[in-house]
Amino acid sequence: MRLALAEARAALETQDVPIGAVVVAPDGTVLGRGRNRREADGDPTAHAEVLALREAARARGTWRLDDCTLVVTLEPCAMCAGAVVLARVPRVVLGAWDDKAGAAGSVLDVLRERRLNHWVEVTGGVLQEECSRLLLDFFAGHRRGGRDSVAPADPGPAGPAGFGA
Ligand SMILES: [Zn+2]
Repeated sequence: MRLALAEARAALETQDVPIGAVVVAPDGTVLGRGRNRREADGDPTAHAEVLALREAARARGTWRLDDCTLVVTLEPCAMCAGAVVLARVPRVVLGAWDDKAGAAGSVLDVLRERRLNHWVEVTGGVLQEECSRLLLDFFAGHRRGGRDSVAPADPGPAGPAGFGA
């Protein structure tokens, strides 16, 4: 999770919402790293988890990552949880929960949907404080910047949750 947090912090360089992910092999080798690059690449699908899974699959030479663990600083969205299922990743470790868009139990539970053909073990709340602090500080900074700041989206009256990446 420390490595995922380092990736998340690096996303700040491109004004991206600070979310980071790594894919780890059973022996602890890091196969893939990713950080949110939605702003950097102008790509709505450039989420940390997808980029880390792609890098890991390239490293392995196969799409099937069925002995790997995905570690991510924020609960995956529906797209990323779908990608986890497609890669047959058996285990996800996440930092902060995302009450607005999380698909690992908060809004949806794609990772443990009984009607799908692959179920994932989920461990949540790892370094939760640090992971969510990074996001809250990011959105607080944008609010201080006023309406003309580079905020990617109005967080709305409910505040910064639903971290949007
Ligand atoms: Zn996502």
